[in-house]
Amino acid sequence: MKKNSIWLEYKDNSPINTLNKNLTTDILIIGAGITGMSLAYQLRNENLDICVVDANLVGKGVTSKTTGKLTYLQGIVYSKIAKNKNLNASKLYLESQKEAIEEIKKIVKNENIECDLEITSSYLYAGTLKKIKELQKEKQVLNKLGIYPKEITGKDFYSIYVEDTLVFHPLKYVYALKKICCKKQIKIYEKTKIINIKKFKNKYHCFTPNNIITAKKVVVASHYPFFLFPTFLPIKTNNEQSYIMAYKTNINEQKSFISVDKQTKSYRFNDIYKIVLSNSHNIANHLNRQNNYQELMTDFKKDNPDYIWSNDDLITIDNLPYISKVKNNLYLATGYNTWGMTNATIASKILKDLILNKSNKYEELFSINRTINLENIKNSLKDIYDNSKSFIGNKLFKNKPWYQNIKFARKNNLPLATVYDEVGSHTIINRCPHMKCSLIYNQFEKVWECPCHASKFDINGKCLKGPSKKDISYKK
Ligand SMILES: Cc1cc2nc3c(=O)[nH]c(=O)nc-3n(C[C@H](O)[C@H](O)[C@H](O)COP(=O)(O)OP(=O)(O)OC[C@H]3O[C@@H](n4cnc5c(N)ncnc54)[C@H](O)[C@@H]3O)c2cc1C
Repeated sequence: MKKNSIWLEYKDNSPINTLNKNLTTDILIIGAGITGMSLAYQLRNENLDICVVDANLVGKGVTSKTTGKLTYLQGIVYSKIAKNKNLNASKLYLESQKEAIEEIKKIVKNENIECDLEITSSYLYAGTLKKIKELQKEKQVLNKLGIYPKEITGKDFYSIYVEDTLVFHPLKYVYALKKICCKKQIKIYEKTKIINIKKFKNKYHCFTPNNIITAKKVVVASHYPFFLFPTFLPIKTNNEQSYIMAYKTNINEQKSFISVDKQTKSYRFNDIYKIVLSNSHNIANHLNRQNNYQELMTDFKKDNPDYIWSNDDLITIDNLPYISKVKNNLYLATGYNTWGMTNATIASKILKDLILNKSNKYEELFSINRTINLENIKNSLKDIYDNSKSFIGNKLFKNKPWYQNIKFARKNNLPLATVYDEVGSHTIINRCPHMKCSLIYNQFEKVWECPCHASKFDINGKCLKGPSKKDISYKK
């Protein structure tokens, strides 16, 4: 059993280019996941100096751990948007998702990309009365938007499906975009982390630990933006974590499924593997991560899958992504509600227009400054409360069974935690540098996780995933 995503078996063998000098550029894209690479691709012929940097390696963030579905049937979403806003907003969101699917098809065809792109029907299904009713309502809203999914009705079961959706291999796609961008002289620097951004005389100075990149325009495509203001994302979003595994099967149906019941389940096929997902939760809850993996294996009756991993994405309180200008010449794209393959693709088209000072029909709907209604805020209070528990988490979590082999101490006013394993002891500072939340130890993956905003650190405190920009290693 490999504790890693199935997509990571596919390797990018190009040499790693790390920034080792100061640089001036027209556009700096921070983050080389599907968002950053799709935008670089869209801008490739614009006669602009473009630079992409990634703290890790191209595609190795959240993008490498998705299930790789390209669908506009995304759970109960259109009826929620219609209720929160209006039917027009639902219509526009639907158009954006369909446009993104067409764009990926077009890119794959024009660039001759081999990324296992396959037409695959998308099914939504429900097995409880309440959720069956919600799904029937979703179908009615879809009908009003001109989409007529087929339906299957059974005893205690209801399903709708469409046949014009796709699946692909996300890393094959992103690595192909990287190759095209490199040929177009776009500079891509890996293992190059931005730790600060400052504006000076109409230009942004973006600091890595050793160098400065000066850019006219900056796009933050780092999944969770590492600056707080003026986005206020911690109160407009929460992180949802899910558990995924892949195992060999004789069946390969061109169908993918998502349940809309309280506990989401999802599955699709890739070559000889079936990829299944369950157990989604706000990262502030279900803190016994080892147990969560066990529940996934129990759910699908597979105790030794070939691959097993987890992933998290930003969920917004109004079901729409944030793809937006933040302030003059600073842009971001995030909050994809677990639909980042399509949303990153539409983000690349929207941001291209905004960067080139053109208007875009989705600009207002996805703006970071859009108004959020009171009902949305009320519904998100529980998530905000759950996340805030982590500020005092150390005290709350300390005696829990999953912390059995961890010793807590306080030295020079620093909260320390020590993990013991076969190698010896590993001490870290148990406080996330991002917003000072207490961390929890994920024994299954041997990583420290922030239950507020999903930063991750290895057993010795090295930062693996933001929004934290710093390590939490403790040097005696
Ligand atoms: C369980 C699960 C299943 C999913 N399945 C699907 C699916 O089937 N279909 C779908 O459409 N979507 C799916 N998604 C959503 C999708 O995976 C994400 O929304 C998408 O991959 C986000 O892409 P990104 O480029 O924004 O982020 P990332 O891929 O994380 O890229 C961000 C990059 O920024 C870099 N970075 C971060 N901080 C810095 C810094 N300070 N300096 C430099 N670089 C930095 C990171 O190293 C990273 O490489 C799923 C999500 C989850 C959680």
